[in-house]
Amino acid sequence: MSPVLELRGVRAGYDDIAVLHGIDLAVEPGQVVALLGPNGAGKTTTLRIISGVHTITSGQLLFCDRDMTGVSPRELARAGVCLIPEGRGVFPNLSVRDNLSMMTFTGRSRDEIEEVAFTRFPILAERASQIAGTLSGGEQQMLALSRGLATEPAVLLLDELSMGLAPLIVGQLYEEVAEIARQGVAVVLVEQFANAVLEFADHAAVLVRGRIAKQGHPDDGLRTELATLYLGSST
Ligand code: ATP
Repeated sequence: MSPVLELRGVRAGYDDIAVLHGIDLAVEPGQVVALLGPNGAGKTTTLRIISGVHTITSGQLLFCDRDMTGVSPRELARAGVCLIPEGRGVFPNLSVRDNLSMMTFTGRSRDEIEEVAFTRFPILAERASQIAGTLSGGEQQMLALSRGLATEPAVLLLDELSMGLAPLIVGQLYEEVAEIARQGVAVVLVEQFANAVLEFADHAAVLVRGRIAKQGHPDDGLRTELATLYLGSST
């Protein structure tokens, strides 16, 4: 299968400081790709590049074999890229229902959006009138995912979905993410701690100081290498 998303030799930085030093990554439809690595490795910057909110210094961003380097975030969103940023992409002062209703700008009706959200996450139906900021962390991530799904993404980018959540909840969320991928969505997820995602990922890339130190199927070899490479006891 040909990749829906490809980074070729991507370099980027902030002001004069280079942060990414030539990233090569290809993601196929239906694949879950985990981008792992310690603090400051450049994981979030990579997601920001894929969603067009950060510019590439050199290299290429391809979407369905089309060169989309330098294209605006709006155009990438229209092409099917959806970023769910770290810290949950919800409006905390609005209700669950209003958070979902805002997504009608996509052209889908409120009923359709709610049906998709409430079928995947029935707890959200029970919480429909609740103010999003008072939901549990896991429920807020479910709402953020539902808002993302309303855009019918081809590529879903998830930044530290597990942040601050109990391992059991993280496992349940990633099971849903894997199910979303099985329906054909390419998923790129960033995590600092590998254990949360390795059993759900089809492919893992380990980013260390702006370079991919290792990538491949998350088998035992990669897990062992991960442990020795940089994570130490934090795996
Ligand atoms: P973390 O999990 O800590 O967010 P990360 O792997 O996602 O780590 P990035 O957030 O991509 O890493 O940051 C990579 C490097 O770029 C870091 O050294 C960081 O200090 C720097 N950086 C990130 N954002 C900015 C910014 N807005 N201005 C200047 N430097 C930045």
